[in-house]
Amino acid sequence: MQHFINVILPIPLEKLFTYCISKEEKDLLRPGMRVAVPFGKTRIYTALVYELHSEPPMVYEAKEIHKILDSEPIINSLQLKHWEWISEYYMCTLGEVFRSALPSAFLLESETLILRNEAGDIDEQNLKDDEFLVFEALQHQSILKVHEVGAIIERKNVLPILNRLLEKNVVLLKDEIYERYKPKLVRYVKLGTSYGSEEKLEELLHSLTRAPKQSQVVLSLFQLQAGEKKQIKITDLERISGSSKAVIKALVDKGILEEYSIQTDRVNYLGTDENNELKALNPYQQKALDDITYSFEKEKVTLLYGVTSSGKTEVYVKLIETCIRSGRQALYLLPEIALTTQLIGRLQEYFGEKISIYHSKYSVHERVEVWNNVLTKKSKAQIVIGARSAMFLPFADLGLIIVDEEHEGSFKQFDPAPRYHARDAAIVLANLHGSRILLGSATPSIESYNNCQIGKYGFASIDRRYGDVLMPEIELVDLKEQTRKKRMKGHFSERLIQEITETLEQGDQVILFQNRRGFAPILECNTCGHTPQCPNCDVSLTYHQYRKQLRCHYCGHHIALPESCEACGSATLDTKGFGTEQVEQEMNEMFPKARVGRMDLDTTRGKYGYEKIITAFEQQELDVLVGTQMLTKGLDFRNVSLVGIMNADALLNYPDYKAHERSFQLLTQVSGRAGRTKKRGKVIIQSYNPYHQILKQVSVNDYAGMFKEQLYEREQFLYPPVNRIIKITFKHRDYNTLNEASEWFALALRNTFKGGVLGPEYPPVARIRNQYLKNVIIKIPQGQLLGKTKNSIKRIQKSFNAISRFKSVRVIYNVDHI
Ligand code: ADP
Ligand code: ZN
Ligand code: ZN
Repeated sequence: MQHFINVILPIPLEKLFTYCISKEEKDLLRPGMRVAVPFGKTRIYTALVYELHSEPPMVYEAKEIHKILDSEPIINSLQLKHWEWISEYYMCTLGEVFRSALPSAFLLESETLILRNEAGDIDEQNLKDDEFLVFEALQHQSILKVHEVGAIIERKNVLPILNRLLEKNVVLLKDEIYERYKPKLVRYVKLGTSYGSEEKLEELLHSLTRAPKQSQVVLSLFQLQAGEKKQIKITDLERISGSSKAVIKALVDKGILEEYSIQTDRVNYLGTDENNELKALNPYQQKALDDITYSFEKEKVTLLYGVTSSGKTEVYVKLIETCIRSGRQALYLLPEIALTTQLIGRLQEYFGEKISIYHSKYSVHERVEVWNNVLTKKSKAQIVIGARSAMFLPFADLGLIIVDEEHEGSFKQFDPAPRYHARDAAIVLANLHGSRILLGSATPSIESYNNCQIGKYGFASIDRRYGDVLMPEIELVDLKEQTRKKRMKGHFSERLIQEITETLEQGDQVILFQNRRGFAPILECNTCGHTPQCPNCDVSLTYHQYRKQLRCHYCGHHIALPESCEACGSATLDTKGFGTEQVEQEMNEMFPKARVGRMDLDTTRGKYGYEKIITAFEQQELDVLVGTQMLTKGLDFRNVSLVGIMNADALLNYPDYKAHERSFQLLTQVSGRAGRTKKRGKVIIQSYNPYHQILKQVSVNDYAGMFKEQLYEREQFLYPPVNRIIKITFKHRDYNTLNEASEWFALALRNTFKGGVLGPEYPPVARIRNQYLKNVIIKIPQGQLLGKTKNSIKRIQKSFNAISRFKSVRVIYNVDHI
């Protein structure tokens, strides 16, 4: 009898692919193990065994596999089921899910580039002969291709040896080179050891009478030490004594002061195993916990709606504790990693080493390590915190999933496929595991809140802040009126300047929100009105002052700032609109003493980009933080008493059915950063349209009102959650082909579905990276079967693909979200 396996290849194939295996291989192989297989003429892929059988394929002759890569499955059967659901629901192939689910180190293929691992501590004795050959080759050239490695070791199949070299830290893979972690060192000072006694001290002060500046520093140090602080930061000493670095350094050189550093590392847990006591919940938190527990008993997906700073995290912590005490695994999903900085610290205080962190900014080694820890159910990975990809870890026994900030759009993966929504896919995962799942937010999505209203989800809420701090007071400022009365300085209204002044005087911190990075969005010629455009995309280039560049935010294209207009030649270029960089600059001009930092995509690149800025702000090395929507993500700062929203209008005017919901969420979340712990915070929202319904609802924290109104609009215009939607995007280099193709497809859809087909229409940016785009939206009424609808669409695509001039048109599906 012949033996075969069906495998998933990490490429967009509709079907599983069959290979033949020997009797010996059959005895070794099980579903969920990886094999290296040949595909096409020259390529080798890492494939995943899906099933074993004895049916030869009908239309092709099955090739033999190259090699078995695992001795145990690395994917379990629940994961395969989950992948199947994702591929079916989000209309993509299993191969695409496979590729996206595994850390890339598990997916070696013949085009991977191999680099030497500079950081690896390599024991040459420990290398086998063939491994050593590769190691040696990498001492002479920095990059090898897989086939070059094959030539070196005179073998075709190099994946096993590359796997071993990866494990031994000898090599890295391309796209796996990350900024190496530099721990943040905070510098402290203390009095030199020889000045311990009082006599010595007196002597010292006496000797410094001729050096008043130095003596002031020493006195300030006493003063600080007399306070509650045990460790004195150099920056604090500088500030309090009003002296310079040079003076302190002179004292250090004389041995009067001693300098030392402490590593403030947030990611690697350096604490002890001893867990801190969990905080006792207040009655409102306890009530929410009881409601959640009750709803969990009925096996319901449950939503926790708790206003900002109501203490949702402490409720999650209790649930996690219960879960891990029963020996099961817990998964804590976050929309983005900015959040984890603070959260990880908080959770580690309670759970110590039981926590693993998993996200795409981590190196391939770290990710593989977490993967293996989860797979083998190590206690180190009993709790996993991660962004959406953490959902793909090989959990054997999930007891709890928490989806924090469930309303966040970044739970949706847009590119590449699978274009899944992590919250929704996590609900399916929870079902497969028989696990409980809690969604949490201060501004729930319309969909989730609606599911509670109709009884599909369980519901719990906390409607006040922890410690009974009042919700921030929100004031709307009319920019039109302020401009007319000439009360504006740059982009700051008189009211905002007043509030900033007061806040800084009180020693509190300020957050300024402007949802646009860069200096000003665009450059415009005052003479002819021309605006420089991206040659590859249909958008204007954005002005970045710091780099003196114009940049495209879609494709990265950039040019040096032109001195004169490229159209008419006049030197009358002017900026229009404004971004974070300009807010920062105006702040610096108006408040030269304030220390201003900026948090946006440009300042947070690299693995620890966020940490640096967040830590600086947390430790009050900054007075003001200017930022984009990154600021909204659940950060908990203790001394922020003012939040300023520079301009709310761009958010509200976004052309999208979710724009109003999103504006409410964003503005409420940013406002929520104010006054979290002590006194009531203040929020100033600047807008040209302060009477907008959404702004009113934000200002009185009227979530229910917002929900009711938005749901009504969705009902009127047949958008989710009333209807389901599928967006089909067509993409092609040639304008005419794209138009023709999308029209053809839309017509076929209309013939099948009658109503509910919109478009094709150009999106707001109709060309990106030289590809034209057009969208068709299908609205699927309740009662129309989703699976059947998708099948019809797929059938239409088959006929579409058969038309030769449409072959090169890309068709992209987005289910549920547009
Ligand atoms: P949310 O996630 O709802 O915005 P957090 O969980 O960040 O709120 O809590 C807000 C603040 O209140 C945090 O600084 C937290 O430490 C504190 N806090 C919350 N619950 C408790 C509690 N039960 N005991 C002591 N402090 C608490
Ligand atoms: Zn571009
Ligand atoms: Zn011009």
